[in-house]
Amino acid sequence: MSLKIWLSDKLVDEKDAKISVFDHGLLYGDGVFEGIRIYNGEVFELKAHIRRLYESAKAIRLDIPMGKDELANAIKKTTEANNITDGYIRLIVTRGTGNLGLNPFVCKDSVVIIIADKIQLYPEELYETGMKIVSAATVRNHPLAIPAQSKNLNYLNNIIAKIEALDKGVPEAIMYNHQGYVAEATGDNVFIVRDGIVYTPPAEAGALEGITRNLVIKLAKEQGIQVIEKNLTRFDLYVCDELFLTGTAAEVIGVVEIDGRLIGQGTPGPITKMLREKFFNYARGKSK
Ligand code: PMP
Repeated sequence: MSLKIWLSDKLVDEKDAKISVFDHGLLYGDGVFEGIRIYNGEVFELKAHIRRLYESAKAIRLDIPMGKDELANAIKKTTEANNITDGYIRLIVTRGTGNLGLNPFVCKDSVVIIIADKIQLYPEELYETGMKIVSAATVRNHPLAIPAQSKNLNYLNNIIAKIEALDKGVPEAIMYNHQGYVAEATGDNVFIVRDGIVYTPPAEAGALEGITRNLVIKLAKEQGIQVIEKNLTRFDLYVCDELFLTGTAAEVIGVVEIDGRLIGQGTPGPITKMLREKFFNYARGKSK
């Protein structure tokens, strides 16, 4: 079935959803985006995603050509037009059509694109067995180059690390920052558990401040679990009791091996499983 795509100011057929080859989003990865879930017909954490989108845009001096309410309305229209009650939304704002130079200010009209589709998940059994991952040699972008908090269209840093993972036959890789501390995975945030305490790197370590991450921190605290944001080393990952990743698409997924070191007993640990379940219920239950 062909999708209806939001393009600039209206819904168009997928085949007509085209942008210029001079769009700086294409030429330079100049733009911002969000990946958002829909659970039970409701857009999950919409406010937080819209807020992050506008902040990402502000950081790169990109004007979003509509207000927050108007954007929320466009998202709603797109999900309804495609009959998506459980799925995934990709919200993109490109710099717009310019010329072959870098100057973003010659681009007159930034382009809003909204795609609502089914979600491609990791296979269900991976959540049961847990996943194997590796450390990427590719260093996360220096925060003074491109801040990780700004979710921009230039994902080459992450893609190169993802290739490292895929070359080694695993789906994800941990990225370290220029100081050697854990930043994040290529598309997810990183958590470890040691002696019952949950640790995750601070956003300043080069991590996107994930919306799933923030919710998982809140859910853990509600369970009386201490959560500490601090710099983590590769060694910390090697010797932790539990390791898990969080993200809009992955939700909460356990990691059972990194760089050939078994984590815990080699299956997702109790705190990982509990937080996965809490998150799962929160996401679905809240939307009822
Ligand atoms: N880090 C990166 C690099 C990501 O692309 C994502 C997914 N958007 C995340 C972390 C997780 O963020 P969120 O929970 O907001 O999806």
